Amino acid sequence: MTTTFPTGLAAVLAAIDDACAKAGRDRDSVTLVAASKTVSAAAIEDVIAAGQRVFGENRVQEAKAKWPDLLATHPGVELHVIGPVQSNKARDAVALADTIHSVDRASLCVALAREIERQQRAPRLLVQVNTGEEPQKSGVLPADVDAFIANCRADFGLDIVGVTAIPPAGAPPEPHFALLAAIAERNGLPQLSMGMSSDFAVAIEYGATHVRVGSAVFGART
Ligand SMILES: *Cc1c(COP(=O)(O)O)cnc(C)c1O
Repeated sequence: MTTTFPTGLAAVLAAIDDACAKAGRDRDSVTLVAASKTVSAAAIEDVIAAGQRVFGENRVQEAKAKWPDLLATHPGVELHVIGPVQSNKARDAVALADTIHSVDRASLCVALAREIERQQRAPRLLVQVNTGEEPQKSGVLPADVDAFIANCRADFGLDIVGVTAIPPAGAPPEPHFALLAAIAERNGLPQLSMGMSSDFAVAIEYGATHVRVGSAVFGART
């Protein structure tokens, strides 16, 4: 075997160590979710071989094509769904995912609750918040999120454990990370999914527990 440790992964892990040290945080409080959209199964296997255990896909359809085999052959590896879930994909999302980062509307809650009951399998669930209030982006608006989280629990029996945000492209992410952290805090949620290749170190400073990093791990998407 002549496998070399993937350089992108090594650099990201070193930067996470660094950011945790600077923020005075325990390294174990941050999980790297390697965002593997468009990445081949072979390239994912190199990163698994280097010890990475948590991966994220943003399209359920792509996850369904790539991941059943990878999960079957690599026990202990977990897949997170990090992108929008159409209600008719709830079945596949519940079957494949350890965590779904993108609960964002009542119709999806209905579909998830039905599948969790049917499959007797309950992924951890995070509510996506549209912190930048961007019309084209999915996610619950900040003004509506407390009520939405309460409804997820009371009306659908969903155990929400955290919140997710994707700050507007090109804007300073700090206010969005601070807003998401405040939402988690006041709703008693332990998980904060925020930070991508360009800003994961900043996200860790603001309390991220899950950073979703793609291109910095795998190289630029073509
Ligand atoms: C692709 C993706 C990421 C990672 O983006 P990079 O900029 O490549 O790190 C994070 N979150 C979501 C929802 C994504 O789709």
